[in-house]
Amino acid sequence: MGHISMVDLKGQYYKIKDEIDSKMQEVIDTAAFIKGPQVRTFECHLSRYLNVNHVITCGNGTDALQIALMALGLKHGDEVITADFTFIATVEVVALLGLKPVLVDVDPETYTIDIEKLEKAITPRTKAIIPVHLFGQCADMEPILQLAHKHKLFVIEDTAQATGATYTFSDGTVMHAGTMGDIGTTSFFPSKNLGCFGDGGALFVKDDNIADRVRMVANHGMKVRYHHDMIGVNSRLDTLQAAVLDVKLKYLDQYNKARCAAADFYDNAFADVAGVSIPVRAENSTHIFHQYTLVLDAWVNRDDLMKFLDSKGIPSMVYYPIPLHRQEAMGIAKGNDRDFPVTEMLCSRVFSLPMHTELDAEQQKYISDSVIEFLSQNK
Ligand SMILES: *Cc1c(COP(=O)(O)O)cnc(C)c1O
Repeated sequence: MGHISMVDLKGQYYKIKDEIDSKMQEVIDTAAFIKGPQVRTFECHLSRYLNVNHVITCGNGTDALQIALMALGLKHGDEVITADFTFIATVEVVALLGLKPVLVDVDPETYTIDIEKLEKAITPRTKAIIPVHLFGQCADMEPILQLAHKHKLFVIEDTAQATGATYTFSDGTVMHAGTMGDIGTTSFFPSKNLGCFGDGGALFVKDDNIADRVRMVANHGMKVRYHHDMIGVNSRLDTLQAAVLDVKLKYLDQYNKARCAAADFYDNAFADVAGVSIPVRAENSTHIFHQYTLVLDAWVNRDDLMKFLDSKGIPSMVYYPIPLHRQEAMGIAKGNDRDFPVTEMLCSRVFSLPMHTELDAEQQKYISDSVIEFLSQNK
């Protein structure tokens, strides 16, 4: 049995090595390292895949969120609502721009923003909502978009963990994660579902005017060279990364299918096991398993379980151990534990198993047997 890792980027690379190497060599041979034609080509291919008018690449997923907020013209003190249970990047940029992050608890089944609590958090100062499509599954976008429409709020979808997932509306319309709100943002960090060989990110936009502003912000606030209409940033996807991504995009559906198959295996293995709950798959969203995250019963000692797995050569991770409302960096936006019971529970009881495109049945059986062995010995 091969070495088990949380993600296996090497194994994935070796299967398409020739194709990737030749595309990277092409970039090197032409030395078009910045804004080479491969960047535009990849943007076109991704916009066709997602069925969205504009894909604008940038330096990373955190930049994409920041550029989105800047392009929408949010002003100092405007309130931006997002989930308490996510990676720090989502709120970091809000605070960085002098906007006020407002955290909301998540749904106990999907771990995405709780709709009722979201509605209660809206005030006259609220200007935007950032739903996070966590672990590979879409937040419940239909009611989020309805609330946004009613209160005239922008919606920025943080799609860093869900590129390729789709959401089905009650009228049967199917849309890709990141294409339902005003702007979708994503990350091409190597371990994401669509990852490059370094840092990368992108914004997905329907509206032509918003797309223009996004392009300007990402490019030093300029439309015409050396004419700067606004304060922007410098955030670009390297041509080499675009070349890699353009190859990997062709395999994205296949990769996501492999992740789902691995999740099916785990689901079956843990279905009737006391002590763990398998991830809930929402009715209106596909799940592309950026992470495979289990919730342990309160009596299970998570640290001991993870140590036991580690002793058997099985890595595991906790995404995320500390809620945002308790992070020191949140300053005045820090919150009271009582307002976030679900996030509190999840942070103390979730743990994620190896999940990637190269897992084989032997590895998965060894992993699930080991989890079950621990649970049955520690009842
Ligand atoms: C990875 C991630 C980001 C940030 O992406 P980077 O490319 O690392 O900047 C933002 N939000 C979420 C939910 C993420 O998982």
